[in-house]
Amino acid sequence: MITVQKFGGTSVGSAQRIAGVADLAVAASARGEKTVVVTSAMGGVTSTLVAAAERATQGNWNFDERPMLAERHDAAARALFGDDARLLAMVREQLDHGLERVDSLCFGLSLVRELTPRILDAISGTGEMLAAPILAAAISSRGVASEAIHATELIVTDDQFGDAEPLAAETRAKTQGRLVPLLQAGVIPVVTGFIGATAGGVTTTLGRGGSDFSATILGAALEADEVWIWTDVDGVMTANPADVPDARTMRAISYSEASELAYYGAKVLHHKTINPVQFARIPVRILNTTNPDGQGTRITFEGHPSPTGVKAITSIRNVSLVSVSGRGMQGIPGIAARAFGAIAAERANVLMISQASSENNICVVVRSEDEARVVRSLRAALEFDIMKEHIDDVTADDSIAVIAAIGDRMAGTPGIAAKVFGALGAENINVIAISQGSSERNISLVVSESDASRAVRVIHEAFALGRKN
Ligand code: ADP
Ligand code: ASP
Ligand code: MG
Repeated sequence: MITVQKFGGTSVGSAQRIAGVADLAVAASARGEKTVVVTSAMGGVTSTLVAAAERATQGNWNFDERPMLAERHDAAARALFGDDARLLAMVREQLDHGLERVDSLCFGLSLVRELTPRILDAISGTGEMLAAPILAAAISSRGVASEAIHATELIVTDDQFGDAEPLAAETRAKTQGRLVPLLQAGVIPVVTGFIGATAGGVTTTLGRGGSDFSATILGAALEADEVWIWTDVDGVMTANPADVPDARTMRAISYSEASELAYYGAKVLHHKTINPVQFARIPVRILNTTNPDGQGTRITFEGHPSPTGVKAITSIRNVSLVSVSGRGMQGIPGIAARAFGAIAAERANVLMISQASSENNICVVVRSEDEARVVRSLRAALEFDIMKEHIDDVTADDSIAVIAAIGDRMAGTPGIAAKVFGALGAENINVIAISQGSSERNISLVVSESDASRAVRVIHEAFALGRKN
């Protein structure tokens, strides 16, 4: 049996947590399983690196965070295998090498003062390269051979820096070539999550939270039996526990439900996590490192349809509602096509589309970081219609959030929309826009950001999704 086991930032956030992870990897090996470990950066490190890059771009050439990062990793290494001088020296050399590289890149940034996605990837992807050797050494110190491997050797991606797409055939060849001999020799490879490289060898990242995606990419490439994603909650829950204290862990969900949940803001899974395993039907488990005996959530093709239809509620923040509106739009063909063409040209991700039946208005929800580019591109593409006054304006509102109710069995279950809107109405929560995906696995709606948490709680309650007390 081959499993790919991914450990998130909190799970490798301290020496004590890394020791727990190493124990889990060693236990899998003792059960005779061939295990590939994928590690995130220690919690908070990626954000620290991004902040350093941004400050360097402002002209501050000092990598001020370096001593703190060096000490945090070194302290973990000392606590885990300080008595093994050989391991400690080997790990220290890699830590030094990684931090030195960030130092040089930040110095370069302070001179050119332009932070391109390509340089940001080179810097932000270093966190995983600092964590992997520590975890591999912790496993070795427990008597099981282990080797830290940079995913730049395994995962081949396109050159969309900051949001790279893996190239399956190339990745499969490299991953099998490098990892299969290690697995056969009983070695546990510890692979850096989050990063890959172009065919030409330039480091890319898979987007924030991308280590989940790394795990399923590697799982598919190795034709693994299962992919296990270890995190800091008991599994995929009926809502973000930060919004809904009585949210419940779901035992089983389908690939399509997991994809919708991840796409609509459930941070527990990177939004592309399911893509690589869906075709090969490799099961994914979400497990809790602080409760390793828990059942977690099992994600499979079939899932486990719920009688109520709705299984979970999500919210996405940091999004903007961009509207193209004007009475003159009615009956003019091609405005929607041009609008969507303009958005696609910016490679902006559209999270939701809604068109009022009066045709006076087309709304799309995009990430707030894309808002300015999308508005500019729409204004340019629709310049003629604005001049002719078919369109009044293109406007944007970033004080909103998207709420989604998700479940496979929503299709064909009547009354779900009525229940969602009835519950929000009873609480005086204003719904700004609505959309139902054509898959009918999802109803999403836009509310004011200040109402988002309450809206999630109210819908969660209306469908009685919480723990039964
Ligand atoms: P990791 O560092 O292990 O990748 P993340 O912080 O990326 O962990 O994801 C886990 C977090 O996702 C949880 O701690 C929780 O706050 C958040 N979360 C949001 N929505 C959900 C949900 N529906 N189920 C479980 N966790 C959720
Ligand atoms: N370390 C990366 C991040 O913080 C990737 C991950 O943790 O999944 O975004
Ligand atoms: Mg994550």
